[in-house]
Amino acid sequence: MNLLVAAKIIWAAGVIGWYLIRLPFERRVKRERVVDARHRVRELVLLSCSTLGLGIIPLLWATSRLFNAYNYPYSPFQLALGTLIFAASLWLFRRTHKDLGRNWSVTLEIKDTHKLITEGVYRYVRHPMYSAFFLWALAQAVLIPNLVAGPAGLIGFGILYAFRIGREEAMMLDTFGDQYRAYSARTARLVPGLY
Ligand code: SAH
Repeated sequence: MNLLVAAKIIWAAGVIGWYLIRLPFERRVKRERVVDARHRVRELVLLSCSTLGLGIIPLLWATSRLFNAYNYPYSPFQLALGTLIFAASLWLFRRTHKDLGRNWSVTLEIKDTHKLITEGVYRYVRHPMYSAFFLWALAQAVLIPNLVAGPAGLIGFGILYAFRIGREEAMMLDTFGDQYRAYSARTARLVPGLY
């Protein structure tokens, strides 16, 4: 099979896999009562940036000629590495959903029964789901041999992360106070021991 076709199929399988992991949690959290929701409109704009970079732009690359001028030569090594990183991101994504359970939300929210999770993968970093998204974006950059569609995920999700993280941590501090302060003091944000 042509390498480019293989890259497109693996990218699409990864996105479908991500959605299948998320779907049951989306159903579950619908029943929760939200007691604090912050920056809703701003959050929706940021989510759109992320969806554009991780979803729409690579989809356009895979299904149209729009970005073909920015394609570059591809190697089987790149395909294999991108696939591995994508698999790692899906593994971490599933773990974070299992650990966070009903406390998860798409935008910044606190539920009436909200619990601070500090165990499982949350023991090592305090934003492992965002680590999983960055791994996905990195997989996209390696998997897609195109100077626009490849890095689009890193830019789109990077924007969401940069504008969200401070507000998310402020919300967690307001809700959990010293418990979150202590948790932050002993964990990194995304990469254990590094950042
Ligand atoms: N930033 C986390 C969670 C992403 S989901 C991660 O990357 O893994 C976003 C929601 O998760 C936020 O609205 C917040 O209410 C909740 N949240 C974030 N960290 C949490 C934690 N340690 N325990 C419980 N809920 C958390």
